Amino acid sequence: MNKITPEQQRNANLLIQFIDNSPSPWHAAASLSEFLERAGYRRYYESQCWDLNPGDKGYAIRADATLICFRIGASPLQQTGFRIIGAHTDSPGLRLKPRPVISSGNMLRLGVEIYGGPILATFTDRDLSLAGRLIVKSNSGQHETRLVRCDQPLVRLPNLPIHLNRNVNEDGLKLHKQNELPLLLGNYESESDSNRALMSLLAHHAEIDAETISGAELCIYDTQCGSFWGAHNEFLADSQLDNLASCHAALCALTAHDDSDATCVCGFFDHEEVGSLSYQGAGGNFLSITLERIAQSLGLSREDHNRAIASSFFVSADMAHAWHPNFPAVYDEQHRIFVNKGPVIKHNANQSYATNAVTAACFIGWCEAAGVEYQHYVHCNDLRCGGTIGSTLAAELGMRTIDVGNPLWAMHSLRESAGVQDHCAMIKVMEQFFQCGRIPAGVI
Ligand code: ZN
Repeated sequence: MNKITPEQQRNANLLIQFIDNSPSPWHAAASLSEFLERAGYRRYYESQCWDLNPGDKGYAIRADATLICFRIGASPLQQTGFRIIGAHTDSPGLRLKPRPVISSGNMLRLGVEIYGGPILATFTDRDLSLAGRLIVKSNSGQHETRLVRCDQPLVRLPNLPIHLNRNVNEDGLKLHKQNELPLLLGNYESESDSNRALMSLLAHHAEIDAETISGAELCIYDTQCGSFWGAHNEFLADSQLDNLASCHAALCALTAHDDSDATCVCGFFDHEEVGSLSYQGAGGNFLSITLERIAQSLGLSREDHNRAIASSFFVSADMAHAWHPNFPAVYDEQHRIFVNKGPVIKHNANQSYATNAVTAACFIGWCEAAGVEYQHYVHCNDLRCGGTIGSTLAAELGMRTIDVGNPLWAMHSLRESAGVQDHCAMIKVMEQFFQCGRIPAGVI
């Protein structure tokens, strides 16, 4: 392999820092907005009036977990259209139930719901803790959001010893979703004391008064920070690489430049892992209404807005299944994708991915211009292919779309792995997409 360059290492370090600061989708949106504020982007509120001009940079947030940011280009929007990259802020995992405390024997446990499709076995024997958002009542009676994160390991899901689960290596680790997932929290006091103690602990970490808490949404997260591994430290491991790596790449690409002809947009959506159909999901109206508001604010007529949409391009960025040498049978041999061999174009004739020949050709052009290798992925025919936000948004917006992403091992594990070089390559091709000349109009 080629040596890791200082630029590749720096981008990978920043990615790990970004992920480790973002243990929940609400933290991810906060990390993204901090990043944007540092780059001179201003927050716009959906309930207020937007007055935008060429050169303006802004962002809006829904439900504390979905963020759309934009930079208004110099060229007429009806001619250049929008250049959009979409990714998701949520990751599959475990979420605390509203009344979580369960007493059993001399132990206290916390009940959890399964969010999306995590590999449950990867949650065992790890240093887990809680992170999420609290809704608190302010002195003026308003509800406000406070992010909370317990830094130290707080809960755990110990395995059974092999002596009590003799076939675990033959049958795999199977966990009953209702009975065997509650997390061990501590020794029994009393249930009411324990609920109160949990609230006090969260209040302490959020630096608020426990009495003011009127709601909570909490994820179980892994307290272990990201790391590098491999003979040359060419791989990185962390939780939530799917899909915070794509969010980070898109944001780096957007903020790398302050000028471009086209109006550039990034959409980072919650709820992708549970189907996207929600208030803040990609299946909601947040992106379409934001594009409409940008067009209206710039004085475009309905006709010109429609022209802008027809000239636009949407890149749906989500991670892809890297080839694993121990399990060659689950991959299509002609479409194996390798870690550190560049961004992946994802194809699916049944539209699990929105790529078509034209959008693939456009993306290949940007890769070539950026000097970046690319790969093609097709899922094995006898396995169900996962979806992304790509086809959902392609249909909803009526926009040319491609599905791409970087190769990843162990998708939906609590600890995933990817390539140091791929992250930098993805940033470069995304920069090229935002900065490149006009996309051929009228190509469908
Ligand atoms: Zn994903």
